[in-house]
Amino acid sequence: MITKTTRPNGTSTRLRPEQFGELVFHREVMRRYLSESALEAITRWERGEPISPELADEIANALRQWATEKGATHYTHWFHPLTGLTAEKHENFFEVYGGKVLSGFNGSELLQQEPDASSFPSGGLRSTFEARGYTAWDPTSPPFIYGHTLCIPSVYVSYDGHALDYKTPLLRSIEALNQSMKKVVALFYKGVERVYPTLGIEQEFFLIEAEHFAKRLDLRLTGRTLIGAASPRGQQLEDHYFGSIPERVLSFYEELEIEAWRLGIPLKTRHNEVAPAQYECAPVFEELNVAIDHNQLLMDLLQRTARRHGLECLLHEKPFAGINGSGKHNNWSLSTDTGINLLSVGKTPKENLRFFSILSIILKAVYTHADVLRATIATPGNEHRLGGNEAPPAILSVFLGKAVSEAVEALTRASELPQLKDKTPLSLLLPRLPHLLRDNTDRNRTAPFAFTGNKFEFRAVGASAHCAPAMIVLNAAVAEAAEEFVRAVEARRAEFPSREKAILSVVRDFLIESSPIRFDGNNYAAEWREEAEKRGLSVSFHVPKVLKSYINPATIQLFASRRILTETELHARYEVRLERYVKAYGIELHTLLDILRTQLLPAALKYQSDLAKLLESPALKSLAMVQAPEKLSQQILLERLQSHIQGLWHGIEEAEARWKDLTALPSIEEQADAVYEHIRPIMTSLRQHADAVETLIPAEVYSLPRYADMLFAVR
Ligand code: ADP
Ligand code: MG
Repeated sequence: MITKTTRPNGTSTRLRPEQFGELVFHREVMRRYLSESALEAITRWERGEPISPELADEIANALRQWATEKGATHYTHWFHPLTGLTAEKHENFFEVYGGKVLSGFNGSELLQQEPDASSFPSGGLRSTFEARGYTAWDPTSPPFIYGHTLCIPSVYVSYDGHALDYKTPLLRSIEALNQSMKKVVALFYKGVERVYPTLGIEQEFFLIEAEHFAKRLDLRLTGRTLIGAASPRGQQLEDHYFGSIPERVLSFYEELEIEAWRLGIPLKTRHNEVAPAQYECAPVFEELNVAIDHNQLLMDLLQRTARRHGLECLLHEKPFAGINGSGKHNNWSLSTDTGINLLSVGKTPKENLRFFSILSIILKAVYTHADVLRATIATPGNEHRLGGNEAPPAILSVFLGKAVSEAVEALTRASELPQLKDKTPLSLLLPRLPHLLRDNTDRNRTAPFAFTGNKFEFRAVGASAHCAPAMIVLNAAVAEAAEEFVRAVEARRAEFPSREKAILSVVRDFLIESSPIRFDGNNYAAEWREEAEKRGLSVSFHVPKVLKSYINPATIQLFASRRILTETELHARYEVRLERYVKAYGIELHTLLDILRTQLLPAALKYQSDLAKLLESPALKSLAMVQAPEKLSQQILLERLQSHIQGLWHGIEEAEARWKDLTALPSIEEQADAVYEHIRPIMTSLRQHADAVETLIPAEVYSLPRYADMLFAVR
């Protein structure tokens, strides 16, 4: 089935640096296709100034020319509705007048499109009869060609101006962060005109045989296996992680990287992950908005490329029970337009003070808005992953590492600023090896939010998630803390002999206030849960309750005062999240019931009837007499099977009744609670019976590929 092969050092498809960005309308291409005044207009437009219709026409014309030269026939606004996926509606570049074909695509088509909004989730922001929605070009993310279509990254709003997407609030949060961080940075540096967040997203995923995928209704409809007995071999041997990449996967990776590079996605790293059949790839970090666009595109590319290799890429957070799930580490930092990473450890006392100022702001931000940050990652898929001993737990805390923690502790005790070292030599006692440098922080895989040397890493984001919700909250929370920081410094300026001392006193207060959120220990330990509760941190696994933080007063204040989202828009988002929770479980439950009724139970009954016939045979009857009063093993097996079949049957009936009750509940909140409280436990119990049946019946009567088949097939 696979035609391509790649041998180590072989001659097949290889990454060529000159291909990078060849399908992207980036600055350099613009310079070739646009006049000076159009280029300037784009720069001003990026800063929020309107563009004249003439210049818009010129840009559209250049874009069409460039795109058609590259083989594009269609264009689309490419936007991010609240489904978590991207959306597109293609139009071709041509106009037909009286049988003649002319080239179309003008400035107004570039700037704005009007897709019907009625079939996207809006959380009640508009009813179906008010269908208008508008998409508008986001000039901060460059247009690109995907297939034969020119894609124009866009925001998406309703007829009355409500944000219906992720990009709109994301761009607003980036601007809020810029505005407030600039004031903080002005305390340390001159000449900084812009501060922006950077993001590098590590993407985990599974690769399985397309053939296996096709045979599993649960994977096809829900992205995860709803039943399946554990494979005798899982990840116990720890031999997959960073292991030699299988041949077919390597050839998949090679094609993926070339395609990604052509699209301007700077993929850099690839390796095997912890679970069998699990992999990861990561690009070099970029400006946050572009990094998120690229991650959305990458997820699509991963799936398409896999299919071309006879594979299926699973992005679900927990495709297989009992082994690691997949996440998406969000490596986040702040940069100035003058090239300073604000989270880099300083070499001079001034830079050192800058580092601790920024650190204290982020700690305070995460501490203050931990609940809504936690809510952003509370999705049905991630629910199966968080809290297991494999992924960051559901309790939000920040890991700083020994050196930084000690410095922070010292700072909170004394008013002197400790000097942090960036990297220190590490003695290996092996004279012939080069000197290694030790980072200022160790790794702690268990921490959800970790400082990793010169950036923070938010690890709790799910593998299939859109990163915007988490990043919007983080940006906004940091913007808020930054404003507060600057206000406090100004207010205290007169009390202290120097501005540095005033700053230091605010840093101390921020660090002391946010100290409950700092935790360097083992986040998987049972004691952490207790300790976290004592510290007043939220400890909740109840997704619908966690989601409520979207509409708590602190969140509303955070978003509304920065015009990132209005209270109405937040309510809408809260509703969309609840709705998706209920719908995801509705689909899972009904898929599970379908598989049980049409695949698992028939297989069990078939085997049971074989057993029953066997027991009726004269040979077994005489054996039974010999062995009495002890029961025949065949009889025991029959009974064991029967108890699970019975359990399944009752479970199915109960599940149906519960779902019916649920749909009669008047509010989406109550429905979500019912899912959490009633539907999930029934699904767990059904699964236990099903998995037990799977281990009792012959493999050949069972039509679903089993865990061991799926996890160890791709070589
Ligand atoms: P690890 O997390 O395993 O240490 P890396 O250090 O290679 O791996 O980084 C992981 C991701 O973090 C990469 O995407 C990398 O580009 C990104 N990253 C590095 N520096 C920054 C930064 N200043 N801002 C945002 N992301 C960064
Ligand atoms: Mg990492």
